[in-house]
Amino acid sequence: MKEVHIIGGGLAGSEAAYQLAKRNHKVILHEMRPTKYSEAHNTPNLGELVCSNSLKSESLTNSKGLFKEEMRQFDSLILNAAESTRLKAGQALAVDRDLFSKKITETLESHPLITIKREEIKTMPEGPVIVATGPLTSSSLKEAIEKYFDETTLYFYDAMAPIIAQDSIDMNICYKKNRWEDDMLGDYINCPMNKEEYDHFFSQLLEGDTAVLRDFETHLFDGCMPIEGMANRGKDTLRFGPLKPVGLRRDETHKPYAVIQLRKDNAAETLYNMVGFQTRLKFPEQKKLVHSIPGLENAEIVRYGQMHRNTYMPSPKYLNPAFQTYKDPLVFFAGQITGVEGYVESSASGMIAAINMDRVLRDKPVVFFPEVTMLGALSGYISRASKDNFQPMNANFGLLPSPEEKMKKDIKRKFYRDRSLNAIKAFKEMLYEQ
Ligand SMILES: Cc1cc2nc3c(=O)[nH]c(=O)nc-3n(C[C@H](O)[C@H](O)[C@H](O)COP(=O)(O)OP(=O)(O)OC[C@H]3O[C@@H](n4cnc5c(N)ncnc54)[C@H](O)[C@@H]3O)c2cc1C
Repeated sequence: MKEVHIIGGGLAGSEAAYQLAKRNHKVILHEMRPTKYSEAHNTPNLGELVCSNSLKSESLTNSKGLFKEEMRQFDSLILNAAESTRLKAGQALAVDRDLFSKKITETLESHPLITIKREEIKTMPEGPVIVATGPLTSSSLKEAIEKYFDETTLYFYDAMAPIIAQDSIDMNICYKKNRWEDDMLGDYINCPMNKEEYDHFFSQLLEGDTAVLRDFETHLFDGCMPIEGMANRGKDTLRFGPLKPVGLRRDETHKPYAVIQLRKDNAAETLYNMVGFQTRLKFPEQKKLVHSIPGLENAEIVRYGQMHRNTYMPSPKYLNPAFQTYKDPLVFFAGQITGVEGYVESSASGMIAAINMDRVLRDKPVVFFPEVTMLGALSGYISRASKDNFQPMNANFGLLPSPEEKMKKDIKRKFYRDRSLNAIKAFKEMLYEQ
């Protein structure tokens, strides 16, 4: 058996190492800490959680809970470690962060098939390799990856706007239309505001509490103004910027004072991105602000706006849903660098990459997880979303194919749960039979 190299001992890399060793492959895991630290990591431990200590909801009718349940079918290292270090946190899976990453480190260090090398990798290694160096990939490797794909491919994406589930938008108030086009079938959903509504929105925006930026983040934002920063420049700045109403009348008699636009974010049109709404407002403040917008009173925010350094590749150009490169079947990428977003999502992509690396090494074809599962829907998004305007994505129900008939929200969630769990179990059986 050839040795598999894994670059990066974060969440994705650790999960990938465990999954490959479990399948009897020798693994060399290269982790640059403690010789070199990223801007956010603070310990030498593998699988360090850089910020929150929550792995989110456990409920199976919640997209994050269902996602984890699917991962559990494959004996996930990250979820095993979380289970043994969990803290009481209602429906959420919160962990003692130190014990959690120590557990991962001990498991990998004591595995006879895994060797851990504490070194920074600066060039693209030959396969078999899984690159999982995360959103804070060191700059020399980032440059090597850019060269490998023969173009400037890695983004420094430091501002994200909230994403809303389409079925939670009130289309009695909002309407579809592209600016200056007559038909009402556009790519954008418009939320119109009269003066009073705009004044209310504006004062909420100014009052909102913003997240404190870490030192390393402050210099990144010059060219990418958050919406609250724009608002600080004057009351009409937004009305002449991203909220300008011209060309967006619903009909001749309609004269909105300002319009918030939402742009479709996936091909299935189940998710919409708030245009020009990059923000560092704290999540509860963002929720309050979004719910104050006419038509978005009950909006489900599937991803909150955020601002921090995030290095990721335009994966739809380079990866199939197995996280394998089109360029070389023995080169895989995993984790946040592929555009998945979140602790558990990153770990899952490491797991999927490892399951498929094992298959390649055994001369078997790669497998794509079923699209009705959360794992399959997210990996499908990474591979098949827009090549030109690719944006990071977390696990959410908007990625799943909608049921054919209309259903109430709670029924739909149960439908997603049952459909996904049946599919993942059948998929697992198929996988182990081969
Ligand atoms: C500031 C910040 C806060 C975040 N907060 C959250 C949060 O609260 N909740 C959430 O769900 N997600 C959060 N994320 C997003 C994401 O879930 C995490 O970044 C997650 O750790 C990504 O997992 P990963 O395995 O892809 O990368 P990482 O966990 O970062 O692992 C990558 C590893 O690669 C190593 N490495 C980098 N370059 C090299 C190299 N050249 N050679 C060798 N090793 C290298 C790094 O040291 C690191 O250990 C946050 C991201 C950032 C940047």
